[in-house]
Amino acid sequence: MALERELARARKTEEKLKREKAEAEDKVEKLLALSSRDDLTEIANRRCFDEFLRKEWGRSMRAGVPVSLILCDIDHFKLFNDHYGHREGDKCLCRIAHVINEHAKRGGDLAARYGGEEFILILPDTKLENALNLANRIRQSIEELTIEHKTSKISKVVTASLGVATMIPTRDLPPGDLVEKADAALYAAKLSGRNKVSHKL
Ligand code: GH3
Ligand code: MG
Ligand code: MG
Repeated sequence: MALERELARARKTEEKLKREKAEAEDKVEKLLALSSRDDLTEIANRRCFDEFLRKEWGRSMRAGVPVSLILCDIDHFKLFNDHYGHREGDKCLCRIAHVINEHAKRGGDLAARYGGEEFILILPDTKLENALNLANRIRQSIEELTIEHKTSKISKVVTASLGVATMIPTRDLPPGDLVEKADAALYAAKLSGRNKVSHKL
């Protein structure tokens, strides 16, 4: 009898430990999900982007296929905040994040908030021409939200400029080179009048 009681107690302890382990795993999973998400817009954050690009860079190098990036920056957003207030600015960021996220449709695509009013998309196995088409659709979708922007110097509504870059990764090129190219393309889009898409070869 004593042995049976011992066995029953041991089984109960085992079940309790299993429950606690499952709960701990659940918590870790939720924390991991939170640490990769941007608090305001709820899309992927910069940390998630960096990790995703690092992995995609290696994968694309092995496969010998191009990776494309689209870097997107809202035009005259400081003037938007100054006129409509930071809260309206936050709402605008969320709506634009949602639109951009909706365009990251393929399985391997990732849309992330890169910082402030900048967003970035990683498009694995995507050549320049297709990335440019997508960037143009995003530019148009943002304009079609028709978010009033009375103080913008280029439009009556909120617009964005986009820089596109494509590279086939090699061993001697760090993924940061692709980000720098997309940034240079974005700068060119701003210089050429904003609400534009530019690219760097
Ligand atoms: P440009 O067309 O050259 O991109 O001009 P810009 O005004 O958009 O660029 P600038 O870098 O001068 O200003 C960015 C603004 O974005 C300033 C900052 O207040 C705003 N911003 C950045 N992060 C947030 C945020 O989380 N919420 C809000 N509401 N505004 C933000
Ligand atoms: Mg900016
Ligand atoms: Mg801006």
